[in-house]
Amino acid sequence: MLATLPRLDNPIQLHDRFGRHINYLRISLTDHCNLRCVYCMPTHGLTFLPNRDLLTAEEIEIVARAAVTAGFHKFRLTGGEPTLRPDLVDIVGRIARTPGVADLAMTTNGIRLTELAKDLKAAGLKRVNVHIDTLHPERLPQVMRWGKLEKLWAGLEAAEAAGLEPIKINCVVTRGYNEEDVVDIARLALDRGWGVRFIELMPLGAGAEAQLSIDRYVSSAETKARIEAALGPLTPIPNRDPSDESRNYLLPGATASIGFISPVSEPYCGTCNRMRLTADGKFHLCLLHDDEVDVKAVLRGGGNQADVEVILARAVALKPTGHALRRGVYTEDRRMYQIGG
Ligand code: SAM
Ligand code: SF4
Repeated sequence: MLATLPRLDNPIQLHDRFGRHINYLRISLTDHCNLRCVYCMPTHGLTFLPNRDLLTAEEIEIVARAAVTAGFHKFRLTGGEPTLRPDLVDIVGRIARTPGVADLAMTTNGIRLTELAKDLKAAGLKRVNVHIDTLHPERLPQVMRWGKLEKLWAGLEAAEAAGLEPIKINCVVTRGYNEEDVVDIARLALDRGWGVRFIELMPLGAGAEAQLSIDRYVSSAETKARIEAALGPLTPIPNRDPSDESRNYLLPGATASIGFISPVSEPYCGTCNRMRLTADGKFHLCLLHDDEVDVKAVLRGGGNQADVEVILARAVALKPTGHALRRGVYTEDRRMYQIGG
């Protein structure tokens, strides 16, 4: 039995000490993945969380309900690869049924969407961001190791057929792997009506992937210039949502936008509205800082939704701002697949 229901008539609005309204929760469901993207995961030497350390579906639901009570209305499932979680459809249903959840999306590499898309839609998932770095069949497995273009593509088509829309593509631009392929990806906004987001590489956690992310960084300005040279001018779309980290544009004749997420060249900390929940039950306060607040300890120590609300309010109060990527100061503890992006 779950504890308290959200007090929708009078939700709290959580502001951090920098005046930011925090209302978007990104929930990582697992640190496992069926790919090994070069900037994210090594191919050897990984140890994953044991299942007993992962938050259960019921625990995730309690955190989601606490978050709604605290004024959160936007939720995203991520990982590792969230579609590897066997109880994913159940988790989606639990969050989607929580009164006050306005948006429930998922970030995925798409491979398992051929099997799951219809059930996820029926359970209440609204939309997906599908990660694909190139449309070139030989280059794709070089950057998204263990990946096959036809499988990712089939996943995208399954998402579209199931109505998990608007579909957005996430493309991480990595020098020497796919910086020339951004033009073909951008064309999807014209040809398929899919939104496209180009992401600057971020070094996270000590390790070879962080070093690769530094060495192979491509600025959004370079990517944008390459697309404009091939496909025409990109007209800026004013961001309706100031907390959207993506700077969005339209190509001539396109209905779907092309956006640039530029944490290194154009930090967006001032308008950040996010809190992150790791698969092992920590509120991770900022992608680019190591600070965390343990919520699993509260849940497994007999705490209820009201106790989680207190922990969430503490996490928001402690949320840091700013990063020093450009001065060469990086986080050390968790890697991207352990947080969820
Ligand atoms: N496996 C899913 C996927 O790839 O979409 C969800 C988890 S993944 C960690 C979330 C996002 O992080 C992906 O869109 C991926 O492109 C991005 N990402 C991973 N490593 C990155 C890095 N070093 N710099 C920037 N983005 C990264
Ligand atoms: Fe897996 Fe996503 Fe990381 Fe690629 S970016 S290795 S798909 S978690």
